[in-house]
Amino acid sequence: MREWEKNIRRVEPYVPGEQPKIANVIKLNTNENPYPPSPAAVKAANEFDLDTLRLYPDPCVTDLVGAIADYYKVGSNQVFVGVGSDDVISMAFLTFFNSDKPVLFPDISYSFYSVWADVYRIPYKAVPVDENFIIVSSDYYEPNGGVIFPNPNAPTALYKELSEVEDIIAHNRDVIVMVDEAYIDFGGKSALELIDRYDNLLVIQTFSKSRSMAGMRIGYAIGNPELIKAMNDVKFSINSYTINRPSIVYGAAAVNDKQYFEECTAKIIATRERSKERLKKLGFEFPDSKANFIFAKHKEAKGAYIFEELKKRNIYVRYFNKPRIDDYLRISIGTDEQMDALFAALEDIL
Ligand code: PMP
Repeated sequence: MREWEKNIRRVEPYVPGEQPKIANVIKLNTNENPYPPSPAAVKAANEFDLDTLRLYPDPCVTDLVGAIADYYKVGSNQVFVGVGSDDVISMAFLTFFNSDKPVLFPDISYSFYSVWADVYRIPYKAVPVDENFIIVSSDYYEPNGGVIFPNPNAPTALYKELSEVEDIIAHNRDVIVMVDEAYIDFGGKSALELIDRYDNLLVIQTFSKSRSMAGMRIGYAIGNPELIKAMNDVKFSINSYTINRPSIVYGAAAVNDKQYFEECTAKIIATRERSKERLKKLGFEFPDSKANFIFAKHKEAKGAYIFEELKKRNIYVRYFNKPRIDDYLRISIGTDEQMDALFAALEDIL
């Protein structure tokens, strides 16, 4: 082996969902929003002055941080913005998870957590969820170097009541607890209301799901000013210009359009509830979902088979070839028309 080869940082990378060319595909595989971004964001895009692309963006992301802070009625010094919540969480791992004790997160959960821990050489323990995929709060009472879990969880879509989330935070006052709320707007109650009481809490959300802007890559963390400052110090030590100019402008416009956001999430929730009934009728079982996707298993047919058959019909859902969940499909909630096409295909296949 050549000398430099020994020094390469080798990791098992995260494998993102497929991103097929959009034409003719019904894309229900990466939990995007089927509705367009807010008309306010579209207007901001149409009016965007392309000449400003000559210039670096604001490294402090002031306008977008301010818009998010105003929306959630927190201080600007309580908001950190990153390139999608993946960037935010990665930065938070680097900033806060520096103990010899293992960081705890659920197994089954967002598979990026262990990848970040590996790449940053953070010790971790993946704590099995119970036989019903439930994250058991008392499993997080043992000494640890930090905690992260999504609420609702992914890919199971199961939601944890806020009192139980608080229980985990309260039992872990000596470490940072991150609640990854990528899917919280689809019917859950956010832990944001706890941030004034718990200085060890970091709540992470994204524009990718409920705000229809996955392509812009905007995520944010909200927490006490000390945590936010520490994250900004790390960010400025790696790459100060992270959020590009269009993201700042369109993002700030979108976050202010509360009415449109609420209309879209209400439509997705209604479609999800109808989809649950239709899945049951077709012989699927699933943990109850409070997200914009359903994690479903057919009583007879294999997950891999349904996945392939749907793909042949240009319908993409997510299949994880992993122990415990290899019979499940994660199906994002699309428009009613897209779901009609999905159910027609499923009736054909099953
Ligand atoms: N957390 C969870 C639980 C997710 O499912 C996702 C989406 N893959 C993310 C974070 C990251 O989303 P984004 O980077 O688009 O904000």
